Amino acid sequence: MKRNILLNPGPSTTTDSVKMAQVVPDICPREKEFASLMKGLREDLVRIVHGDTDKYTSVLFCGSGTINIDVCMNSLLPEGKKILIVDNGAYSTRAVEICEYYGLPHIDLKFAVDELPDLKVVEQTLKDNEDIALVHTTHNETGTGILNPIREIGALAHKYGAVFTVDTTSTYAMRPINLDEDNIDFCMASAQKGLMAMTGLSYVIGNRRIIEESKNYPKRSYYCNLYLQYEFFEKTGQMHFTPPVQTIYATIQALKEYWQEGEEAKWARHTRVFEAIHKGLDELGFKDVIKREWQAGLVVSTIYPDDPNWDFDKVHDYCYERGFTIYPGKISTTNTFRLCALGAIDEQDIVDFFKVFKEALEINGVAMPVKYN
Ligand SMILES: *Cc1c(COP(=O)(O)O)cnc(C)c1O
Repeated sequence: MKRNILLNPGPSTTTDSVKMAQVVPDICPREKEFASLMKGLREDLVRIVHGDTDKYTSVLFCGSGTINIDVCMNSLLPEGKKILIVDNGAYSTRAVEICEYYGLPHIDLKFAVDELPDLKVVEQTLKDNEDIALVHTTHNETGTGILNPIREIGALAHKYGAVFTVDTTSTYAMRPINLDEDNIDFCMASAQKGLMAMTGLSYVIGNRRIIEESKNYPKRSYYCNLYLQYEFFEKTGQMHFTPPVQTIYATIQALKEYWQEGEEAKWARHTRVFEAIHKGLDELGFKDVIKREWQAGLVVSTIYPDDPNWDFDKVHDYCYERGFTIYPGKISTTNTFRLCALGAIDEQDIVDFFKVFKEALEINGVAMPVKYN
């Protein structure tokens, strides 16, 4: 099969063995055989973030990663309470938009997209608003690649008696996470990112006790209620509604490959890829959006050069035709593009990519090293 190198922030490049794992005899997902597959899968998802499977569980949903944010916001807020969103980027803003759509009381605590949140301001906000019951933020803001201090934000949430939910969609199964040490009550991801499986399966991993407490919270969604889906899994071992059958087979294969590679070796590989991306961009004179020491090590967000011949779409198309996908940025105020270190790729793929990328700049007449005014 043709191997494409995806440098977009997910879905990621997958192995052929994961692709082929989807080709299985037809099965009705209500069979016991299928439920037993999901049981092992759900436990593995908790183990990846070093959770004790008595204390923590994972709840699967059929959908893209945003479904997890939707589920957490609408399901984990008690009546009369408020959500605090620590917001320095597009994905935390998505959580704010979800609150707006459901009409949930919330505080959008905004910080600049290229700055870390000020923990003093976070603490003051918690002090001033005793009705905050849920604090939410994003681990790696995929729009820029900034790594947020989740352990510290989680400690503050707990100090003021709030539940802490973190969008770890773009770090899970890549950058090591430890639920207890990182003060996380709920985290989330989707199979197509760090796990290097297919699209269509997303999961919330979190504290069983808190899910059980949420049983009597206001029900704001039918399809996306955390307690309802959890309870159905506990009773029957199954998803409430039709699961993404073939994606689940692919995810089980991806988990085998995850354990084979190992947490540390996998993170070392992503780091190698990340360093190779930086090396290539540095050689061409490109500038980053985020200070190097604040980057999560998975997404490089790069500023467009001030060259009249620079045309992202043309460069994209040239690379795409040769098997490499680059991705636009997600910052409204600056023109950026992104190169990501996700997926089943290694350093050599990035070396190969930069040969093609350089050609694309040459053919379009972009001066190298690139210029900024
Ligand atoms: C990819 C991603 C999501 C989910 O996006 P979808 O388009 O719904 O898959 C959510 N949060 C973060 C931080 C992400 O990187």
